[in-house]
Amino acid sequence: MENEELKRRIEALLQRNSLTSDGVFVMDGSKRSGHGNAYFTGFGNHKRIVFFDTLLECLTADEMEAVLAHEIGHFKRKHIPKRLLLIGGLALAGLALLGWLIDQTWFYQGLGVSTISTYMGLLLFTLVIPIFTFFLSPWLAWMSRQHEFEADEFAVQQAGPQGLIQALVKLHKDNASTLTPDPLYSACYDSHPPVPVRIAHLKAYPPSMLEPL
Ligand SMILES: [Zn+2]
Repeated sequence: MENEELKRRIEALLQRNSLTSDGVFVMDGSKRSGHGNAYFTGFGNHKRIVFFDTLLECLTADEMEAVLAHEIGHFKRKHIPKRLLLIGGLALAGLALLGWLIDQTWFYQGLGVSTISTYMGLLLFTLVIPIFTFFLSPWLAWMSRQHEFEADEFAVQQAGPQGLIQALVKLHKDNASTLTPDPLYSACYDSHPPVPVRIAHLKAYPPSMLEPL
């Protein structure tokens, strides 16, 4: 990254959170699409920060810092290991259920099948399981939205609410997504809370939350 001012602020943000980076990079995302994005990758405390050039073009230094603070929030609140553990647990529970059902004659008979075999059990299980996972998705989406609120809260502590509010509005405009989704649909399926709800939360945090630099 050539922007020294932004680089310095990013390094300071990382330092405050006891993270070290192996460098701040800019990716030529504009060659593929106009979609803006940012991520950090790497194990342990050695992080490599990557920004899409499309993001650098549309966001100010304040907004970039807030977006990165939000991503660090996900890392600091351990959202990725928590989610991996949950998905792994659900997968094991699903396999245990399959292992049990595959030996139950009523499972085959109830679905009108007379052949009891491993392949038929597997096939029927695959057909039936979406009925049950359907009820899991609102719960998983709700949890994901809680994680977004936690990461937002962390970003406010680090960089104040204003930069993130502006960045959210700009990104949603650029990515051409709606600011006012249907509330029921959003509650069941959206991994991120609607932007007006996030902004209302961001504005509600007391100013004293901002950590002194
Ligand atoms: Zn997030």
